[in-house]
Amino acid sequence: MSVYLDHNATTPLDPEVLLEMMPFLTDAFGNPSSVHSFGREARRAIDVARARAAALIGAQPDEILFTGSGTEADNLAILGSADLSAAKRCVVTTSVEHHAVLNPCRRLERSGGRVTFLSVNRDGVIGVDAARESIGNDTAAASIMLANNVTGVVQPVTALSKKARATGTLLHSDAVQAVGKMPVDVRTLGVDLLSFSAHKINGPKGVGALFVRRGVALSPVFSGGRQERGLRPGTENVAAIAGFGRACELAALRLDENVERISPLRSLFEVELLERIPGVTINGAFAPRVCGTTSVSFDHVDGDALVIRLDLLGVAASSGAACNTLDREPSHVLLAMGRSEEEARSSVRFSFGRGNTAEEIVRVVGLIARTVAEMRGGAM
Ligand code: PLP
Repeated sequence: MSVYLDHNATTPLDPEVLLEMMPFLTDAFGNPSSVHSFGREARRAIDVARARAAALIGAQPDEILFTGSGTEADNLAILGSADLSAAKRCVVTTSVEHHAVLNPCRRLERSGGRVTFLSVNRDGVIGVDAARESIGNDTAAASIMLANNVTGVVQPVTALSKKARATGTLLHSDAVQAVGKMPVDVRTLGVDLLSFSAHKINGPKGVGALFVRRGVALSPVFSGGRQERGLRPGTENVAAIAGFGRACELAALRLDENVERISPLRSLFEVELLERIPGVTINGAFAPRVCGTTSVSFDHVDGDALVIRLDLLGVAASSGAACNTLDREPSHVLLAMGRSEEEARSSVRFSFGRGNTAEEIVRVVGLIARTVAEMRGGAM
């Protein structure tokens, strides 16, 4: 039987989420902008979802904007807050962000903006002092991810909120890999903007959300109708939004249970790997990490080849971010952490979910040990 250890790429749709979505894929097909009863029914579903999404992160419903993905939420946060024509043309971010943040930042650079990419230490964490110093009166936004998608490493976002506030900088956090895995409260974090995505928390693909603190004005990236306050125009994907709302509600209800269930699985996995296989490094092991992610480097092993061999044995893992698997470049996250190209290429990401069991973990470690030994030419 196959074992799915790639929950950072995506998670299975919860059956309760599907139930919530079904009416809006069938009879309740109204357009939420319509005034008649069909439209009002769809609008109500979006309102319910908005309240549920807000509750998960300690926000008010009117601070939640639904988008077409986590990527879209990140783009809107960054491109919508920088004003290239005015005094605030700088953005601060980290060198370990997801491409959903890095690429809009590079786009700003090409259009005349100035972007600071903060470096990280060997554990993948930014320096707080350097980060604070990089934020000035000309900074439009600081975009610092909460949990990294490759390593699970958590950044000290809260430590930057005071400086951001003092300089009129919008503090954004990409929390796509944090929500549902650790407590995420926008007031405690002190953020103005925060992105999250449904398919990472057992919701449907193709829907995300951006928390926009009350009083924060963003410029739209797309032009169109007045949906989502004109910031995400286009007829809403009602079924997906309704499903996202239910997924948020379940994520809030199950947060403690999930952490309690998944943390020991990762510990078991790492301990077993380190005991049974020589030449193994856990990337970011000494930093705070969310519960379900581990990035492992196997000396003298090609990570891509290991992932393919494991797949043939029924184990799904990843040698990079899911959206990066086509470019075959070594992970920019691991390179930024000071790993060599070879070390970065020897890495595999395993990410666990509530459906995994300890028996599976032990069995998978056995398969990895055997496969790695074969790949190293039996030299174990
Ligand atoms: N940010 C992070 C940290 C992610 O891991 C991902 C997806 O893997 C995204 C953003 C993009 O989210 P989506 O797949 O909803 O576009």
